[in-house]
Amino acid sequence: MRIFDPHIHMTSRTTDDYERMAAAGVRAVVEPAFWLGQPRTSVDTFVDYFDSLIGWEPFRAGQFGVRHHATVALNPKEANDPRCRPVLDLLPRYLDKDGVVAVGEIGYDSMTPAEDAAFAGQLALAVAHDLPALVHTPHRDKARGVERTLAVVAESGIEPGRVLVDHLNEVTVKLVRDTGCWLGFSIYPETKMSPPRMVELLRTYGTERMLVNSAADWGRSDPLLTRATGEAMLLAGFTEDDVDQVLWRNPVEFYGQSGRLDLTDLEGAAATFAGNSILRGGE
Ligand SMILES: [Zn+2]
Repeated sequence: MRIFDPHIHMTSRTTDDYERMAAAGVRAVVEPAFWLGQPRTSVDTFVDYFDSLIGWEPFRAGQFGVRHHATVALNPKEANDPRCRPVLDLLPRYLDKDGVVAVGEIGYDSMTPAEDAAFAGQLALAVAHDLPALVHTPHRDKARGVERTLAVVAESGIEPGRVLVDHLNEVTVKLVRDTGCWLGFSIYPETKMSPPRMVELLRTYGTERMLVNSAADWGRSDPLLTRATGEAMLLAGFTEDDVDQVLWRNPVEFYGQSGRLDLTDLEGAAATFAGNSILRGGE
């Protein structure tokens, strides 16, 4: 089973995770820029964070045979913090980098006017830089959040086939299915979407434009739930080809629209990044 996790925050994960993911078939990941759990106090910390998403983290992933790409954005939550908003002026510089395959994650957290402005502005950036957009949907008040999300997407003029609307569930999937956008589902260990529920959704809505991710981060999450979903699909009678479409070909097609996906194998990956290895300073 080859797996592409289209949404995972590896910065928050350990090398054990990379090892277990590689053993489970995860060969590629996309790491969206997001909120780190504690408010940032200045724009400069975003510079270091974005640099690590396109520098150190792809290097670290490569040590385990995993291809790593990133999406960059001002995340929905910090769009509300005036200290962070100048990040929007930094983004064009990063959206030109090779390892960046989309603008994201953007969208709504609490649906404030500040989030409206950051969301619309960053969709415009996606259009201007000819990149796809990864759109987070709120965890609270989900249906209203998705409706409003889709209205902003439609207004932006971005081609729906270049938008991935993420964190969907049984209720919100219906709102997105006929818009032409891609549909993302984050599989969590306890709450929200689970592998059996995901299998039911794939039975109902088919495998086209459907993406499954672990959204693993610093909270309770599990980077192997992509694999668990593939196995649940097989047990439910889906074919290996169906699993390959959902767990590999769909994310490749979506992010491939950036023209920047590099999935060549990692044999011979560099042993150091800027002179540093994952061995903490040497053998
Ligand atoms: Zn996320």
